[in-house]
Amino acid sequence: MMFCPQCKGLMISSGGQLKCKKCGYIREIEVSDRLKKTDKRLEKEITIVDEEEKIATLPTASIKCPECDCTTAYWWLRQLRAADESEVRFFRCTACGKTWREYD
Ligand SMILES: [Zn+2]
Ligand SMILES: [Zn+2]
Repeated sequence: MMFCPQCKGLMISSGGQLKCKKCGYIREIEVSDRLKKTDKRLEKEITIVDEEEKIATLPTASIKCPECDCTTAYWWLRQLRAADESEVRFFRCTACGKTWREYD
């Protein structure tokens, strides 16, 4: 809903313009008026790692490895096959290569 900057009246769109019903003020419809807000939550990336070489490009997190004293691990998200399970975060130790999933 657009309102007139002159009189605060309701603006109606006609022929690529917005026109005030009250005072007749006209302005062009801008691109920003047409753009719909995007839901950022839907843009969350799910990274699936199958190949060893892709590991090196993964983000790292500060987390204690269960196998050694290393505190840095690569991590990625993976959607499990079971529909009732949400995506799970996996970690791989940068030192010993131990891979484990996060339980919460
Ligand atoms: Zn007006
Ligand atoms: Zn380790």
